Amino acid sequence: MCAMLERAILRGLRPTRAEISLAALRHNVRAVRSLVGPDVAVMGVVKANAYGHGAVEVAGVLAAEGVAWLGVALPEEGVALREAGLDTPILCLGGFWEGQESTLLDFDLTPAMSHLSQIERLDAEAGRRGVTAAYHLKVDTGMGRLGFAPEALDGALAAAAAFRRTSCEGLMTHLSSADVPALRDFTNGQVARYGDALDLVRAHGVEPRWRHLANGAGAYAFPEARGNLVRPGAILYGLAADTIAPDGPGIDLRPVMRFVTRVEHLKTVPAGTPLGYGATFVTERESVVATVPAGYADGVRRSLSSRGWAGVRGARAPIAGRVSMDLTILDVTDAPGVALGDEVVLFGEGGPTAEATAADAGTISYEITCGVSSRVPRMVV
Ligand SMILES: *Cc1c(COP(=O)(O)O)cnc(C)c1O
Repeated sequence: MCAMLERAILRGLRPTRAEISLAALRHNVRAVRSLVGPDVAVMGVVKANAYGHGAVEVAGVLAAEGVAWLGVALPEEGVALREAGLDTPILCLGGFWEGQESTLLDFDLTPAMSHLSQIERLDAEAGRRGVTAAYHLKVDTGMGRLGFAPEALDGALAAAAAFRRTSCEGLMTHLSSADVPALRDFTNGQVARYGDALDLVRAHGVEPRWRHLANGAGAYAFPEARGNLVRPGAILYGLAADTIAPDGPGIDLRPVMRFVTRVEHLKTVPAGTPLGYGATFVTERESVVATVPAGYADGVRRSLSSRGWAGVRGARAPIAGRVSMDLTILDVTDAPGVALGDEVVLFGEGGPTAEATAADAGTISYEITCGVSSRVPRMVV
């Protein structure tokens, strides 16, 4: 056991924790960099507390590995990174709200722009301060979410030229389906519309220094969509099985998070014993059941009730009955020599992968790691 974990236990915490392997993260960012080559820069996407992994620690590793950019969803998330001392350029992928122009300028955060009024507001605030500010223009080529419609781009560029305190230093779009082999044509269409948008921007006399389209799935499966910057998120965290196309070139990624706890209570019960709320599970044989101190308030999804499993002593221990808020019951009958205090792997090495847990829960691995709640300490190992 590493010293940090030992100290945490001495501090009197329950043993439920998310272990974060910075070595795995480092391995993954290097794998991504070797995939895209030296001519394509990397924006490490660390929104939503780095998909639940701990944004400051993750961003620190990515910055040390030399990523050109960090990507967050919200200006607030960028502020937290700046306050932690990170000075890597930060792009706010989700734009910003009225009143956050000051935050952007105070903390040197670059916004993605999706409509003209945002450019106007940032320009006005920059003017008041006598500074200039850069932004990335976002064009909607098929995601249908944020970004200028391609038809609106010409007019927007003409109007934006009047704002002298702000400049377009990037042109971006977002691929919706780069992980879906059946939608290759659709993705190629997005790439083509982005190319048209880039031509139009250039026709307006603007050369965007950063040209980017691809999330991790796009960077992996569509080399032609890499522009000069890619924006991987999930693959940095070793989430692969449900985040990138299954028919790609192959990439060696390692899971960064391991969600673990320990056996708090152990008992042998006869066949016919109801377990958990609603008595939805009744033992069919004499069973050894373990109670563990992690529930849906910690990120063990309730949809895993009588569906998911955890790893105990190398064996598969099915979740028996409903996951409750703070506790989960496992059937450990088949775990050899199970004992009080044994480690229980909710996901990660020694248990199911986050992707397998996601499949059992009817979701995707992104939601599994993001869903490990703030009640669970992240511990760097
Ligand atoms: C979240 C996000 C990404 C990263 O996506 P992954 O699928 O995790 O690689 C990239 N770009 C934008 C705009 C995003 O919102």
